[in-house]
Order: sequence, then structure tokens, then C-alpha cells
Amino acid sequence: MDMHTRPPTISAQVWSGGQELELRDLPAPDLGPGEALAAIDLATICGSDIHTFSGRRPGPFPGILGHEAVGRIVATGDGGVRDFHGRELSVGDRVVWSVTVACGSCDRCAAGLTAKCRSLLKTGHEPLGGEWGLSGGYASHIHLPRGVTLVSVPDELSDRAAAPSACATATVMAVLEAAGPLKSRRVLISGAGMLGIVACAVARSRGAASIEVRDLNPERLELARRFGATKTTTAGGGDGGAAFDVAVELSGAQPAVASALAALDTGGRLVLAGSVSPGPAVAVDPERMVRSLLTVTGVHNYEPAHLQQAVDFLVETKDSCDWDALVEPPRPLADLASHMAPPQGHHLRKSVAAAHPA
Ligand SMILES: [Zn+2]
Ligand SMILES: [Zn+2]
Repeated sequence: MDMHTRPPTISAQVWSGGQELELRDLPAPDLGPGEALAAIDLATICGSDIHTFSGRRPGPFPGILGHEAVGRIVATGDGGVRDFHGRELSVGDRVVWSVTVACGSCDRCAAGLTAKCRSLLKTGHEPLGGEWGLSGGYASHIHLPRGVTLVSVPDELSDRAAAPSACATATVMAVLEAAGPLKSRRVLISGAGMLGIVACAVARSRGAASIEVRDLNPERLELARRFGATKTTTAGGGDGGAAFDVAVELSGAQPAVASALAALDTGGRLVLAGSVSPGPAVAVDPERMVRSLLTVTGVHNYEPAHLQQAVDFLVETKDSCDWDALVEPPRPLADLASHMAPPQGHHLRKSVAAAHPA
């Protein structure tokens, strides 16, 4: 392994199942060809990590959670590693990494569905004793395997702005690609969490005619207005009118899915991305689907280009959108367990940072 510095001691919050985390020292991994080790500067706490920790989402344990983070390369294996644009990365380079790691050779990878690779690995979702033990962001360092997408992060983007790109921001890029062109479209965004707020900002930047956001939380709706919403509705459902060209459903609540479908005008397109756990079915009126030329599509995770688009978008909008304001200032990694709960008020993410040797 091409370790330019002494192998660091790695400290990680190991999730042992249930609502328990243990801060442990772990050995640095041997780096194979095309692999890297990154020191993590900051990791944000995504809602799905809180779901895993609270027992509402299954996950392998013991393991290291955390899939939204930003850090710096500290070592690379033979052959080095490259970012999305093919630029060779050096020790000290600042990067974010994708939530999915694909084989690149199965039928789904060949079809461009790397997020559904037949042998998919997921950041922050692998067992500690498996082939990728150091997979999570709640640690001083992460092992970046061959097949992970690395995107360079310019210094002008803060850690708090950059960290959510690997889950929330990149997923929104995939969702809005599936939604098609937004220019002059009437857009409905259902759910004003991190994805919904990012979706507002993207819809505004792409010239949407109007952006209505629906959520039950009035503080989040106020945030939505700051990020581009032109109308907000404090309800799961709307007024029942079919008035939207594009609807994106990010809450996963079954009534919200039904009302987003009902809200589509002729030629409308609904993208579902919030429904990531089992729930009741939603009725579909096939005649209306046909006569109104409706499209409904699902998006889960994203492809490598979406992570690059996410970072590019955050950089482009860093002066017009206060991305830092969405993320609470970092707490010590050692205190992670007490922060595995949804943030309050105008914050959409908590964050942790590990002090690590330079
Ligand atoms: Zn996430
Ligand atoms: Zn594959």
C-alpha cells in the first residue's frame, strides 16, 4: 500500500444493533489497487441512519453507519484513484464519495443502473467483519473501495454544505432528471426535508413557473420559501385540483403519494422517491392515466454523474442558498449516540466530526 504517512489509528462509532454505539479503535485497512483511505472531516446524520439506529430499518451489525460525509485522501493503493472527471487524486485532496459501490460488469451496471448492481455495496451499510468493514462515515477515516464514485470538492464549499451531497443532494439530481425539464413547468414538491429543500432550489434554478411545497411542518415550509418555493401548503394533501406538470414525492406518506398523483395535469409526471419502506398501496385509475397521458416513475439512490451534478450545483448556488444553515454545527464523534434523532427547527441535519491526526 502506498501509505505516504504512518498508518493512522482509526476511531469509529460501531453500531451494535439496537440503540447502541461504541467508540472503538480499529486497524487501518490494507489498500488494494484502486482503493483509498480518506480522513473524514464531517459527517451528517441522514434520516435513514436514524431509522436504522431506532430499529425501523434493518441493517447489518456490527457496522459503521453514516453515508453523508466529506473528507480528504490520506493514502491510496497501487495505481492511485481518480475522481469522476478522471483526475488523479493526491493525498490531501478533498472529496465526497457515493452511497453505492457497483461492480461495473453485471447486466444492471451495463444497463446504466449501477445503483441496482447485482453485487452492490452500500456506504455505511456493510458489516464490520465483511469485505468492507470501514464503510461508514461515523469514524475518523473511511476505506474507499474500487468502484466507489469520488467527486472533488472545491475549498469554497464548506464541510456542512458538502457532506449531504452523497445522499440528499445527489438523489435530488436523479429525481429531477426523471422529472424531465422544469423550465416553465408548474412543480409540486411533497415533503420539505433535506431532499425537498434541495429540490426547491434546483427547480428555481431551472426556471420552474411555480413551485408549491407541501409538508406538515410549518418551520420547514418557511425554509422551503427561502429556497425557492412560491407557495406552501401545511397539509399532506392539496385542494384537489389537477394543476401540476411535475410532482416529486419525497415524504413517503401514502396519502401524500395519492394526492400528488391526483394533482397531475395532462401530460404530468410524478416521481416517487420517498416511499422506501413498506406501506399501503395507492389506487391508480388507469383510464385517467391513459387519457391524461400521465407518467409515474420511481427513483432510488443515483448514478455517478448525479453526485458530480450535486457538488456542481452546491458550488454554483453557494452564494444564493445558505446551505450551511441547513446543517447544525458539528458535535464530537464521541457524542454521536445522543444526536441520533431528528434535528429541530430550521436545521435538517445534525453533524459530527472526529478530530483526526493531520
Ligand atoms: Zn441518506
Ligand atoms: Zn454490477
